Amino acid sequence: MRKLVVGNWKMHGGLDANAALLGALREAGGQGCPSAVCVPFPYLQQAKSLLEGSAIAWGAQDLSEHAVGAYTGEVSGAMLNDFGCRYVIVGHSERRALFGDTDGRVAAKVDAALAVKLQPILCVGETLDEREGGVTEAVVERQLKAVFERGGAAALAACVIAYEPVWAIGTGKTATPAQAQAVHAFIRGRLAAWCGADVAARTTILYGGSVKPQNAAELFGQADIDGGLIGGASLVAGDFLAIVAAAAS
Ligand code: PEP
Repeated sequence: MRKLVVGNWKMHGGLDANAALLGALREAGGQGCPSAVCVPFPYLQQAKSLLEGSAIAWGAQDLSEHAVGAYTGEVSGAMLNDFGCRYVIVGHSERRALFGDTDGRVAAKVDAALAVKLQPILCVGETLDEREGGVTEAVVERQLKAVFERGGAAALAACVIAYEPVWAIGTGKTATPAQAQAVHAFIRGRLAAWCGADVAARTTILYGGSVKPQNAAELFGQADIDGGLIGGASLVAGDFLAIVAAAAS
């Protein structure tokens, strides 16, 4: 399966820094591997104007579960489409932990994204307590099942899935390739059970959590790891491009 590498800028950036970063990505081209950056809402127009016509796609980091209406501060999927987004991250652990994104709301956001033909990148993953408590698979299954139960097999089948152990995000601690592979294989198994073997085989399952140029190749070499969702390292052009190159090879 062809790999995918997506940058999650989180709440970082500024017009000048973005122009330099996006310019460097554009200049390098896609390097034979699909890639994208998910930028803060105010910079979507800048991403569109600097990346349009390049091999690199762009997207947002969240969307409202509502289509339109009196929801102050919210941004709808249709608005993201106005800025040419291809992807939208849904259910990132920071949104689940800090902004009240429950499993149910995440499932509603997946539906909202699909309703306007955006590709959701559905994030799942366990906390350190959950891993140490031996419930990693149960947590990941619960998070996936919420989407399956609301939108059916079609909703889950339309997602890129990102396995992001919460304890590895922004901490410098990466899951070992074997730890990550085990959860990725579990996810693919759930997809096979709920959506069928074809869907399971063609679903892109990204790993996220302190991926760097130094560890990317080994992670991406695992059988069920189809690329990465990259936080900190996506803010440094050279690092992001090195990770994309690792995925391409
Ligand atoms: C993320 O926020 O999705 C992420 C994976 O962050 P980092 O690469 O910085 O751990």
